[in-house]
Amino acid sequence: MTETQRNVILLGAPGAGKGTQAERIAAGYAVPHISTGEMLRAAVAEGTEMGLAAQKFMEAGALVPDDVVIGVVRERLARADAQRGFLLDGFPRTIEQAERLDVMLADGGRGVTQVILIDVPEDELVERLAGRRMCKGCGKGYHVVFDPPQKEGLCDVCGAELYQRSDDNEATVRKRLEVYRAQTEPLVGYYEGHGVLRTAQGGGKMPDEVFAQVEQLLEGE
Ligand code: AMP
Repeated sequence: MTETQRNVILLGAPGAGKGTQAERIAAGYAVPHISTGEMLRAAVAEGTEMGLAAQKFMEAGALVPDDVVIGVVRERLARADAQRGFLLDGFPRTIEQAERLDVMLADGGRGVTQVILIDVPEDELVERLAGRRMCKGCGKGYHVVFDPPQKEGLCDVCGAELYQRSDDNEATVRKRLEVYRAQTEPLVGYYEGHGVLRTAQGGGKMPDEVFAQVEQLLEGE
């Protein structure tokens, strides 16, 4: 592992703003943004075997089985553009995934360099997810109140139509938050124990304010 390598994980509940911050970090630090949720949604849209297997879990707000997701990440991290650093968004989500990621990276002489937790109170998460819209073309995220596009329903960047994710309805949102508390939040302690966890306060903050904290945390090493 070289000293300049940034092997970063973004941790936080659904709606905490991981995707938004990930876009900014990937652009600022020239590392690939690896979102397991995006990769799984692409597989669902393409109708691949994996996509078909994953779809029922995603629509229920449950986690896709570890073996499936780990396979996807293993292949992605082996690609050339991920050798000098990467940004993981939405992975790991279980202790099992975190442990297997550590082994995978150690096999290649690498390791996780920083984990950034974006902390947002639960009530705000529900509000953010309910108003969230995504671009069909480039995947950019918006919020109907907090971060609306210039032209209603259309992406500022590529002009494609915006849509609401099928798992952003209230019942599924509640389930996803429950799953986060039970299965993903234990990763906070896991990475604290590894000495790599840093926390950004995301509650009541605009994306730029959160990014300013994230940059400081990334530079603080
Ligand atoms: P996201 O876009 O990160 O909110 O992910 C959307 C959905 O994809 C989640 O609710 C899960 O069903 C599935 N998913 C994404 N990442 C993972 C992961 N690391 N482990 C298990 N399921 C995942």
